Amino acid sequence: MLHKKDSIRGDLEDDVFASTDLSIAMPKYKFPPDEQVARHAYQVVRDELMLDGNSRQNLATFCQTWVEPEVDDLMTVSLDKNMIDKDEYPQTAELEARCVHMLADLWNSPQAANTMGTSTTGSSEAAMLGGMALLWKWRERRRAQGKPTDRPNLVTGPVQICWHKFARYWDIALREIPMQGDRLIMNPEEVLARVDENTIGVVPTLGVTFTCQYEPVADVAAALDRLQEDTGLDVPIHVDGASGGFIAPFVEPDLLWDFRLPRVKSINASGHKFGLAPLGVGWAVWRDAAELPEDLIFHVNYLGGDMAVFALNFSRPGGQIVAQYYNFLRLGRAGYRKIHEAGYETARYLADEISRMGPFDVVYDGRGGIPALTWKLKEGIDHGFTLFDLADRLRTRGWQVPAYTLPADREDLAVQRILVRHDFSRDLASLLLDDYRRAIGILRKHAPRESLTEEEAGGFHH
Ligand SMILES: *Cc1c(COP(=O)(O)O)cnc(C)c1O
Repeated sequence: MLHKKDSIRGDLEDDVFASTDLSIAMPKYKFPPDEQVARHAYQVVRDELMLDGNSRQNLATFCQTWVEPEVDDLMTVSLDKNMIDKDEYPQTAELEARCVHMLADLWNSPQAANTMGTSTTGSSEAAMLGGMALLWKWRERRRAQGKPTDRPNLVTGPVQICWHKFARYWDIALREIPMQGDRLIMNPEEVLARVDENTIGVVPTLGVTFTCQYEPVADVAAALDRLQEDTGLDVPIHVDGASGGFIAPFVEPDLLWDFRLPRVKSINASGHKFGLAPLGVGWAVWRDAAELPEDLIFHVNYLGGDMAVFALNFSRPGGQIVAQYYNFLRLGRAGYRKIHEAGYETARYLADEISRMGPFDVVYDGRGGIPALTWKLKEGIDHGFTLFDLADRLRTRGWQVPAYTLPADREDLAVQRILVRHDFSRDLASLLLDDYRRAIGILRKHAPRESLTEEEAGGFHH
């Protein structure tokens, strides 16, 4: 008995790494048979996370990698808040509703107070909802005309993968406008060439994934207005504002892309990108209730008012939405503008410096899109290395600066991209430039016998 007591005390006093639990490798793929001391299990998991990259050096992601301590705290106190349970957490639901109205106001909805919208887990879910509303409305129109509804299509520029998913899951023909020469985004002529009576909508992107440019929403809307005058065909627009929806209203309030254009029926944006909220929140907003078909909505009346529920998920965390509301209060228009303008300045500084280095042509320099830059190697010259070699070399210093080939019809063109987020300071940018120059120097001195392929260079870019 006494002996047992001693051994238990011994276990409690053990240094975590000298404990019997940690004297063996942990189970990896078979379900663990026994319990572990919390402190030991925690240490093992915490240590594994060390092997992940350092997110702040990940210049590929559009998503938040830094938050204020107040957001940390709000996230902690919101750990138990379930967004779907509007009965138990009516105040969290109220904050969500306020965010929707604030966004409708920010995006110039004609009746912001009565607009329809919802939080989502990100732009992918929001795009799915926006796309479904377009499909339902198109079917309604076609049925009213006694016409078939079996061959819907969607016209887009080079889109993020979420639109490929939407099209595949709903069996919709995706008419994605290919890139051509130096035109890497949609234009009105290319849109008109693809629109017909089976088009459920046109989706311009404000901040294209591959180049970060804004597609010309107002020009496309004007072209569709003319089409309607000439042919009677009325094709709605949904704007994928995943990034731009949280940038343009603050930095370029005169840019026409939102509900000021009557043809824009719905908008999605990622709260966890330039909305500056922690991971896990997006938004979908419709210009007015009429654009959101009734039978897609489930009504909940716990709040006394009419709470429209339109989402793919049931239970989901509420903290991100609470944090989003905090951001709106904390920053206001002025705060978001300051943060994003700092990002643009850093992007342009990087673009200038990179074009000065010699081997590169800047494709997008942070003007006419989101705070970011893309560049390519000068064409027609043997540089002795590729952008993939450079991306790989930079990883030795922890930087992720993705290199990738563009989609159709510019699969021949490889670019490298930097997303300038809130937390990427000018000082960090200058340190990155030093490492970039050093990487070029090493690759020039030790030219790889064979360059890395895109797969070998790895990296995630969209
Ligand atoms: C990031 C992004 C998406 C997907 O958004 P998530 O919030 O990551 O789901 C969709 N469209 C564009 C243009 C994007 O940049």
